[in-house]
Amino acid sequence: MTRRVSIFGATGSIGQSTLDLIKRAPDDYDVVALTGHSNIDALARDAIAVGADIAVTADETRLTDLRAALAGTGIESAAGHAAILEAADRPTDWAMSAIIGVAGFEPGLRILRHGGTLALANKESLVAGGPLLMRTAREYGATILPVDSEHSAIFQSLVGEDMNAVERVIITASGGAFRDRPVADLAHVSVAEASKHPNWDMGQRITIDSASMFNKAMEVIETKEFFGFTPDEIEVIVHPQSLIHAMIGFVDGGIMAHVGPADMRHAIGYALFWPDRGHVPVERLDFAKIATLDFRAPCHDRYPALRIAQSVMETGGHAGAAFNAAKERALDRFIAGDIGFMQMGDIVDGVVERLSSSNSLNIAEMTLDTIKDIDTRARRIADEIVDT
Ligand code: NDP
Ligand code: MG
Repeated sequence: MTRRVSIFGATGSIGQSTLDLIKRAPDDYDVVALTGHSNIDALARDAIAVGADIAVTADETRLTDLRAALAGTGIESAAGHAAILEAADRPTDWAMSAIIGVAGFEPGLRILRHGGTLALANKESLVAGGPLLMRTAREYGATILPVDSEHSAIFQSLVGEDMNAVERVIITASGGAFRDRPVADLAHVSVAEASKHPNWDMGQRITIDSASMFNKAMEVIETKEFFGFTPDEIEVIVHPQSLIHAMIGFVDGGIMAHVGPADMRHAIGYALFWPDRGHVPVERLDFAKIATLDFRAPCHDRYPALRIAQSVMETGGHAGAAFNAAKERALDRFIAGDIGFMQMGDIVDGVVERLSSSNSLNIAEMTLDTIKDIDTRARRIADEIVDT
């Protein structure tokens, strides 16, 4: 039976890996919507290749280009945030949430409100609005399948296990581009250097977030929000080979480790075929060649993001929304060349601190509007800190 699927963020790194799997079995899927932003050529090319019903670009100024690229194909085209939400309202059996940033939150929420199955790569959704996202899934009987490699690993390791028998969860971190640089040098590293990941081939923003470990900080919060672990049950270990993605420690001292190649098609494929397993064409690991797996404790001077994540979890409420927005804005300003690499941590710290001390983060009920409000304020404060 064919399954109706949509991909939000189809032109990105995760979107392209998802399309790679879908294109290998075209008869199994009926593609409803593909969305992108600036890469109109790729969006149109893939919409035609998979015979999508509609292609949507988030950038309204590019509608004419998209229309031209799809002329004569019978594929609908649309543009803008509202059009992405309209695409999310179209019924599917499975949808991939792989837009970058908090822009991916609302489309995912729409899909959950239709009781759909959401493969969630967009970790910002859980960081900024985890309680709302999880509550929505519960209320509408929708399913969220984690796609972030560590969370897919945890999810897979917990199949058939009693959560009461779980003592701790350990997520691994590659350490990113600067894991072996002296901490004193980090103030002066360039955007180009921060954009090179030692193991994974990913979009630029998440690659820089890996170098600063803001990505890992987000994943710690993601782990708390999705699986319900308490902050003290979640550990991070630097594992330079990125082959173990996460480990679950049980009350009897046993540890279940999930091992797989550093290729997101494994985690995407797990979510695509869940609850079954399907063939995924990733590298088969040869342990004789790998020979060693290394581990080291993360250094908090090098990665202040991990400490910030702890305080965000302790504060709770809308601290995640403030943290996420401040991080996104600090990253924009680093990429623009306005601030140094290590200043990103200071900015995020400053924003969360300012909103927290003005008692703005403990709003009784979390809604889309409260998240948007904190998001806007956090970005404004981040800019104020940079510009003064
Ligand atoms: P990319 O930057 O490669 O792709 C982002 C996608 O979002 C593109 O399709 C892009 O369109 C689109 N987009 C950009 N801005 C907007 C906007 N304002 N509104 C709507 N769409 C927009 O990101 P990744 O694929 O690396 O990451 C996607 C998500 O998955 C992120 O949340 C990331 O944290 C998460 N993730 C990624 C992993 C990876 O290996 N890459 C691993 C685990 C999680 P266009 O390219 O056309 O401009
Ligand atoms: Mg990850």
